[in-house]
Amino acid sequence: MTLPDSIVYAGIDIGGTSIKFGLVDAAGKILHKEQRPTTAEKGPTPLMHKVTNIAERLLLYAAEEEMDVHWLGVGTPGAVDFKTGKVIGPCPNIKGWQGMDIGGTLRERLNMPIYVDNDANAMALAEATFGAATGRKDVVCLTLGTGVGGGLIIGGEIYHGANGTAGELGHITINFEGPRCNCGNDGCMEAYCSSQAIIARAKQLIKNELPPILKEILEGDLDNLNIRKLFAAHKKGDEVATQVLDETAVYIGIGLASVVNLLNPEIVVIGGGIADGGGHFLEAVFSEMKKHAFSSAVDGLSIVKASLGNNAGFIGAGLLGRINE
Ligand SMILES: [Zn+2]
Repeated sequence: MTLPDSIVYAGIDIGGTSIKFGLVDAAGKILHKEQRPTTAEKGPTPLMHKVTNIAERLLLYAAEEEMDVHWLGVGTPGAVDFKTGKVIGPCPNIKGWQGMDIGGTLRERLNMPIYVDNDANAMALAEATFGAATGRKDVVCLTLGTGVGGGLIIGGEIYHGANGTAGELGHITINFEGPRCNCGNDGCMEAYCSSQAIIARAKQLIKNELPPILKEILEGDLDNLNIRKLFAAHKKGDEVATQVLDETAVYIGIGLASVVNLLNPEIVVIGGGIADGGGHFLEAVFSEMKKHAFSSAVDGLSIVKASLGNNAGFIGAGLLGRINE
């Protein structure tokens, strides 16, 4: 079916701390966006009520503005049965969310087509449609934040795998004797490259005495350390920050080499707070990856920073129905 140019995509991105939602036109222009706190601690049922309420208000706004909305898309943490819209995988950031029938609940309430997918898949679709990988057919998306997530676009479509679990790039083992990961396995990329893992490594190196540059940036308090400040210290030449970030680039490069050998993508898009560290960091990732990957798999490949930022999740969620219509 050909979609009209007037179509407006409505999407909701459920995150661990906030729910972002909005409306995007066929050219990728954001027509409306909002966000609300997730308050995941209140439990899965109140959260589902909140999502339903947000969906109703978003669609009401679109109707009042006479926008041409054909379906609603939702992105959520965890693996998703995209045929039904049910969360089938564990969700460490939203307790009790596994098993939630997002698709069924919204369909019954809203009586319109509902598409649900994993949030990193939605982000990958957004970046491949309107973002840093526009027009590319074989795209790997890696998101580096509290967790390390991934989404795969193969032949222009989201690759789900047999059970909807494909693309868990954060849980590629990069050292089988490495630290315990949140998933229960040892030495996953996430166990080295999540924000907490990076900060923990920096704190270990610092031990008791704060080096002068970090001391100034952190106002003397090591508890103030976060990724942004680590990059700031690195820029000013702090040795600890530089060592930790160099190591992180090596870990990401090693993990990505396996992905690149397996999938031979055209482009790797890196999103999340760590990607904001600048071109130098992505170059370090690329050069490490090149050491471990086949040159034929790396030939013509680029690694770029995601360009849609925090909006990628809801934009990609809104686009989900495009593949199915
Ligand atoms: Zn893991």
